[in-house]
Amino acid sequence: MIDATRGKPHETQVELCGDMQLSTYISENGTDVRNYGGNDGLPEMKRLFAQLLDVAPQNIIVGGNSSLNMMFDCVATLVMKGIWKPGQKFLCPAPGYDRHFAICEYFDLKMLTIPMTPSGPDMDITEELAKDPDVVGMWNVPVFSNPQGYVYSNDTIKRLAKMPAANPAFKLMWDNAYPVHQFNGASPVIANILAECAACGHESRPIMFTSFSKISIPGAAVVCMAGYESALAVFRERIAVQTIGPDKINQLKHVQFFKDLNGIAAHMEKHADILRPKFELACQMLEAAGANFTRPNGGYFISVETPPGCAKKVWQMCKDAGVLLTQAGATFPYGMDPSDTNLRLAPTYLTMDELRRVMEVLCASIKTVNG
Ligand code: PLP
Repeated sequence: MIDATRGKPHETQVELCGDMQLSTYISENGTDVRNYGGNDGLPEMKRLFAQLLDVAPQNIIVGGNSSLNMMFDCVATLVMKGIWKPGQKFLCPAPGYDRHFAICEYFDLKMLTIPMTPSGPDMDITEELAKDPDVVGMWNVPVFSNPQGYVYSNDTIKRLAKMPAANPAFKLMWDNAYPVHQFNGASPVIANILAECAACGHESRPIMFTSFSKISIPGAAVVCMAGYESALAVFRERIAVQTIGPDKINQLKHVQFFKDLNGIAAHMEKHADILRPKFELACQMLEAAGANFTRPNGGYFISVETPPGCAKKVWQMCKDAGVLLTQAGATFPYGMDPSDTNLRLAPTYLTMDELRRVMEVLCASIKTVNG
């Protein structure tokens, strides 16, 4: 069975970091990174994240090794503090990231599906639903969305910042997981959600997240959240109780290895060179098969649309032929794709030969259901 289910980097990508040795254990503020302290991150790590997200270093809280973990903790905090209540509602652009939806299910936040468009979530529907005081938040992957690879337009971002939300605790969960992950063209530059929200008097609305998982090493990365103090204070309070020392050794390793945004950009070009041929191959074969699919310029996925009612059938046909794709329906809240059309393709982890085999099987299955 070839496993094409998850968007993992290939071995050749994680090897790009070598073994990230440290040349000193002392941070620029004199902290010995081998000891306790520095709960919200080393100053040089905050600065690197601040460059990546185009925010001020004081708006950053550095986290551990997983942004999903940090997002889970945020939702947990807001629920535990009674700011959000189980049974309240969450806006979920879909197709979207299955693990965001799993967090909502875990905390019993009722998910409302928002259709995705090439410029982001359908904003007319979003604005309408935000008038409900039970709507407390919304997931967003603004750059190279999982799974379509769409990038939010500035018009979408400005409308999200400006729209009235009936619940004063309404949050935009801004998961910028792929800000520098282009393999075609330049890095997308989008409007800054923090600045846009502040300009509209909604300072506490956005919480940004980003991660080195697909820049350095998944599971041994560094992540962060960013926002204004009015949004972050409740999380700082929790972190002060939760830990007395994050992994600052890994933070310093990342700063010494990447140095600045130019260092990250140069490194991401090497990732792009590995990923580009895989995405080109997958897209060429889908096109030749007459499939309906998105052609991303970055990110980790391709979104494939089968004819209505056929995604589960295609998934099963692939499995029977020895190819495991992400479960049909997984890209929708509660695993339910109302028209049963969407399949998420993850080409990155496979070798070119494996990917060719996956695409042969997938394309043959799509041709069969297309008649
Ligand atoms: N957010 C999105 C949109 C993702 O696609 C992924 C991984 O596929 C993650 C977050 C996971 O990030 P991390 O490894 O930092 O937990």
